[in-house]
Amino acid sequence: MAETKPKQQNQPKRKMPERRCVGCMGTFLKKDLIRVLRSPEGEISIDFTGKKSGRGAYLCKSEACFRKAKKSGILHRSLECEISEEIYAELEKEIRLAEEEKE
Ligand SMILES: [Zn+2]
Repeated sequence: MAETKPKQQNQPKRKMPERRCVGCMGTFLKKDLIRVLRSPEGEISIDFTGKKSGRGAYLCKSEACFRKAKKSGILHRSLECEISEEIYAELEKEIRLAEEEKE
């Protein structure tokens, strides 16, 4: 006879990594943020894996934060590097997509 005792798994809850959005200064789960990365070579890109090395700035997936960040130049300041229009366009696209998914 098989025992039907429910298996108790006492796994400690793993804390999800959190980061701060440069727009609203709110703390979010890393996976809910977009990472803008400055590579050691000084190139700016959007890091979808969150694993690339370099200096990162995080933006939550909200259009308000995106606009604020773009207007205030906070990404540029926190990465100490010029952010091209292409990067902003790509960010905007990603955020739009994420906002659409929320609805
Ligand atoms: Zn934000």
